[in-house]
Amino acid sequence: MPLSLYVDGPRWRDHLTATTAASAGLVPVAKGNGYGFGIGRLARRAEWLKAPTLAVGTYREVAEVERRFSGDILVMQPWRPFCTDVHYGNRIIHTIGRTEDLSELAARAERPRVVLEALTSMRRHGLGHAEFAHVSRAARGRAAPGVRLEGHALHLPLSAGHLPEVERWLANAPTRRWFVSHLDAGEIDQLRKRHPAVEFRPRVGTALWLGDRSFLAARATVLDVHPVKRGDRVGYRQRAIGREGFLLVLAGGTSHGIALEAPTAAVSARQRATALARGGLDAAGRSLSPFSVGGKLRWFVEPPHMQVSLVFLPSGVAAPAVGDEVGVQVRNTTTTFDRVVVS
Ligand SMILES: *Cc1c(COP(=O)(O)O)cnc(C)c1O
Repeated sequence: MPLSLYVDGPRWRDHLTATTAASAGLVPVAKGNGYGFGIGRLARRAEWLKAPTLAVGTYREVAEVERRFSGDILVMQPWRPFCTDVHYGNRIIHTIGRTEDLSELAARAERPRVVLEALTSMRRHGLGHAEFAHVSRAARGRAAPGVRLEGHALHLPLSAGHLPEVERWLANAPTRRWFVSHLDAGEIDQLRKRHPAVEFRPRVGTALWLGDRSFLAARATVLDVHPVKRGDRVGYRQRAIGREGFLLVLAGGTSHGIALEAPTAAVSARQRATALARGGLDAAGRSLSPFSVGGKLRWFVEPPHMQVSLVFLPSGVAAPAVGDEVGVQVRNTTTTFDRVVVS
């Protein structure tokens, strides 16, 4: 009963190689749901791309990539003493966001490899300016703690215009390698020109794996089709059907992430209106589904179930057959597909 992601393999692979070639030192990011592909598949692709380093979100994700990828694994979630699933080993690079964490990690026999994370204007994790400079000096100095410093890391907000902030961090705690997140190609070019001795390593997920998404198509299998007429009651909530047509039972429910939109940062009025129209209700309390049949998005009959969705198709539109597939709009970072088919 699959919800499937179809990938135009040749175009996807072209995009991956072109993106990697265009950005020296790119560190692919594989985390969470693996951007819809699954982390394991991304790890194999990173190996195929000959990436020297792969970044994961959490320690728990290391196990899934370490068998498929032979290079270094950068864990972006900062190391904490209370993490119970930490992987150690020579291929693991830990992220440090607090001075006390560095001291604890340095007490380990193997001299762990570490990246020092700066607390940027994101305000997520990291060391503030004064501490960062101090810890970085100590990590590079002769009285170095028991760690191997691999570089520094900056995680920046998505908007452009953060070069002055980057410059402040570079001046504050100079080092030879910086892992950077969410700088665009033009910004990185400028940094490389200004700091030719510094190695910038952009950590990229979305732009690498998904690109403009034109080589991806999500499709839901039609599991059942029932003719219905006005007044028929259907579903868990026994809502009455408003007019004659078909009840479609489609693969894809809450467990796949269907119709569970991540909160959107809808900034403009137009974006807010679009979000409302897509997730919103009409006067009858119906909500527009992400499934499209006959070229149009169709209405949910009721909220999606765990693994399927009930969708109404009015008469006059050719009903699909059981086993056919229909298009579905998904957000790749919140969707778990039953299968991924790469051509
Ligand atoms: C997830 C993540 C990235 C990759 O983000 P994309 O927007 O998917 O490219 C980079 N850096 C950090 C620290 C992250 O958590």
